[in-house]
Amino acid sequence: MRMIRCLVLGAVVGLAALPAAAAEPQVPERDNLNAVLWMQGSAEYKAAALSAYAAARAALDRALADPAWTAALEQTDGYRDKPPAIVLDLDETVFDNSAYMAWLVKTGGTYNAQSWAEFIEEKLSPPVPGAVDYIRYAMSRGVTPFYVSNRAASLKVPSREALAELGILPAPGDAAILLKRERRDWGVQKGSRRAVVAEKYRILQIVGDNLGDFVDDYGVTVAHRAQVVRNQESYWGSRWIMLPNPAYGNWESAAFEYNIKLDENGRRAEKQRALAPWK
Ligand SMILES: [Mg+2]
Repeated sequence: MRMIRCLVLGAVVGLAALPAAAAEPQVPERDNLNAVLWMQGSAEYKAAALSAYAAARAALDRALADPAWTAALEQTDGYRDKPPAIVLDLDETVFDNSAYMAWLVKTGGTYNAQSWAEFIEEKLSPPVPGAVDYIRYAMSRGVTPFYVSNRAASLKVPSREALAELGILPAPGDAAILLKRERRDWGVQKGSRRAVVAEKYRILQIVGDNLGDFVDDYGVTVAHRAQVVRNQESYWGSRWIMLPNPAYGNWESAAFEYNIKLDENGRRAEKQRALAPWK
């Protein structure tokens, strides 16, 4: 659009008559600029999210019709007659928090728990495209959504309110939201929380944006993570639905093998080393 406007303007006044453009002030380099711009500004991100949720919805009908179907590795025997459920992550799965990340890019800030909590409490995040239609469809078919998120337990109230506003908080209410450390054995890994859901429900699908949303053995190294994906190859797109998140996730930490002692520059060096250039 801007290019068209420039061309029209150029044709009207004659490009030669325009004063030389003032040089742009130096723009700080931020590693996340392109990733956040893609999530916030691209049609492609929205289309990718819609595609993921369309696949989820199509597979949900097959899952309901097949009593042997389960998506959870934590599901043990005797699940066929349990009522159906789906398990979803919250951030970058149900809620699009790109405004928080855009703010970090603009200000040069880094994630911290306090500003994140302030942001979540504002309840500004729109739903990820396709999420609400999929979840409401599941609920209309008698499937209960459970939200297994690594948000802090102190963010339960704004999480519940945001889900209720979208009409995707099911009847179990608070019990449908399982946040990190709400119980002693609910750590960063989500398997113990999936197991709680699996005790009473048959988990038809899991939806997330991070490998750890699906499996506890999500791997410290890039190679191991790739192997985990291959091990469950038939699950993707039907039992397990992955949303794109190029802005953050364990994929990034794996590139520097979780060496949290590294500063920003050290991490960048490891990420460069993790690339596979053609020569
Ligand atoms: Mg997430």
